[in-house]
Amino acid sequence: MRIIVTGGAGFIGSHTAVELLDKGHEAIIIDNLSNSSEKAIDRIEKITGKKVRFYKEDLCNKDGLLSIFEREKADCVIHFAGLKAVGESVKLPYKYYYNNIVGTLNLIDVMNKCGVKNIIFSSSATVYGTPSVVPITEECPKGICTNPYGQTKSMIEQILTDVQKADRSFNVVLLRYFNPIGAHPSGLIGENPNGIPNNLMPFITQVAIGRLSELGVFGNDYDTPDGTGVRDYIHVMDLASAHVHALKKIADGSGISIYNLGTGKGYSVLEVIKSFEQATGIKIPYSFRPRREGDIATCYASAKKAKEELGWEAKYDIIDMCRDSWNFQRLNPNGYDD
Ligand code: NAD
Ligand code: UDP
Repeated sequence: MRIIVTGGAGFIGSHTAVELLDKGHEAIIIDNLSNSSEKAIDRIEKITGKKVRFYKEDLCNKDGLLSIFEREKADCVIHFAGLKAVGESVKLPYKYYYNNIVGTLNLIDVMNKCGVKNIIFSSSATVYGTPSVVPITEECPKGICTNPYGQTKSMIEQILTDVQKADRSFNVVLLRYFNPIGAHPSGLIGENPNGIPNNLMPFITQVAIGRLSELGVFGNDYDTPDGTGVRDYIHVMDLASAHVHALKKIADGSGISIYNLGTGKGYSVLEVIKSFEQATGIKIPYSFRPRREGDIATCYASAKKAKEELGWEAKYDIIDMCRDSWNFQRLNPNGYDD
């Protein structure tokens, strides 16, 4: 298939572009580079030995988007482009609603105009809010998102659901990611956060490389086995492969489908630190801090539906995830800025 990958220079998009190219698809990347580097495109080409067509364009510029779609005649869109920093979204809600919602509305309009009726969307476990049961299945109701970032994910899911309801020729796959970490085993592409990382794994790798002095563990009084927060970490290579599996639903003309993408296993913050130390031999100094606002105790997926319907399941374990996250950080101490 000819696939337009919005946000394809970013963390998950770049790994998915590699997987698409490796599996014989064509990947056309649109990214405004607001949270990424053009070097990721060179690295995708280096890993795959294939050429990628790259457009530096903002989804909020509808005319620019339209001319790309008119030229490229794609079969499907995988929509990663969006801003994703939870804390920043609380401080700058307009920026998040504008970028994520207007960008997606423009995309849908342009897709309609060009007869592209297939879309896979990067959603998040955050749409479940505070889960009433774990593991979380796709039947669990959506919950209340505590921040504008999460709201945009939930709203975009609703927009795509309504668009598909009104036009049954649309095929929509909503993929709810749990906690993506890891990197391509080559160490050429990986997560490249701006400033001090908000997420656990990039924080740990920056402590390991010496850019940060110690990890703050947010809360040790949760109702979990060791008191620290439990999450379902998933290797970005597994996540990338799930997108290629999801193309089956597009090819089958299945209407709308929703899948959790996780491993089905939860790890506490202390278990992640231990796994990282085991995988790398590097000690991570940490101290306990107060709970972070908006955090929940435990969140992990039921990964059954994706296995049954897409024939996909995660293959990499937590040690692989830690090793590959570290490998990217070690080889790119300043991210793509080297
Ligand atoms: P990322 O920031 O690395 O990638 C997103 C890319 O989109 C970046 O390259 C950025 O430059 C681009 N972009 C943003 N706004 C754009 C616009 N208006 N026009 C064009 N390009 C634009 O993030 P990621 O971790 O790769 O996440 C990809 C998607 O998955 C996002 O939608 C994110 O919300 C979602 N997601 C991520 C996680 C996670 O923990 N990483 C979890 C759940 C969902
Ligand atoms: N966390 C932490 N210290 C950090 C960053 C995160 O203790 O510097 C914890 C956080 O409280 C949560 C887990 O690590 O329990 C995963 O957080 P992350 O921000 O990576 O993902 P989230 O699940 O919040 O989206």
